Amino acid sequence: MLKLVLDPGHGGIDAGAVGNGIKEKDLNLELCRRIAGKLEGYDVEVTLTRTADADVDVYRRCELANSLKADYFCSVHANSGGGTGFESYVYTHAGEITESLRGVVHEKVAAYFKSAGFPDRGKKRANFVVLRETGMPAVLLENLFLDSPRDAVRLKDSSFLDGLAAAVAGGLVAALGIPVKEQAPPPLPWDPAAEIARLKADGLINSDHRPEDPVMWGELATVLNRIISFRRP
Ligand SMILES: [Zn+2]
Repeated sequence: MLKLVLDPGHGGIDAGAVGNGIKEKDLNLELCRRIAGKLEGYDVEVTLTRTADADVDVYRRCELANSLKADYFCSVHANSGGGTGFESYVYTHAGEITESLRGVVHEKVAAYFKSAGFPDRGKKRANFVVLRETGMPAVLLENLFLDSPRDAVRLKDSSFLDGLAAAVAGGLVAALGIPVKEQAPPPLPWDPAAEIARLKADGLINSDHRPEDPVMWGELATVLNRIISFRRP
């Protein structure tokens, strides 16, 4: 099964970017939880580098992904510093596979932001620890700017976040070719009391019994003989 690591950037004492009433660490975790939720119907093992508001060192995040032998690492962030829109990063010296996987994820997510009127700031490269120290293809997403009131208002909107999570999950599914989980057939409904009632209605037994009552040999033999006599012409 494919293994995916989702990395909610920052946490604990490291709030990340802060703006318009949003702390980046909280937004990143919320978004990663929603992305994991969108992937529940898929055959993929999803691990988050943190599941609470905790300060997890960036090197430890990479070690976690490396020890899991993850197939892909997706770090989730939001931007600040005077701008608007979406951009993604791969490592400065990323290879062809990393670049092509990023291309698929980027296009899906950028299309979602574009439909909401936000610009695609492009596919970028940087020497970020989580991109450099991970032993598998890795991408880092910068989802809008917390210091832009127009961006922040959408990031506070639960349905917008849900759509964003679906776009990221869709990008990951497409990039990695994650298959849909095979559904086990639903168990047959079994109602022991109804089975006993049916035997009585069919005349194989004469009285009511509780499902948990033991059967005596005399009763069993009677029922079996009745079945045999029904089958005789
Ligand atoms: Zn960040």
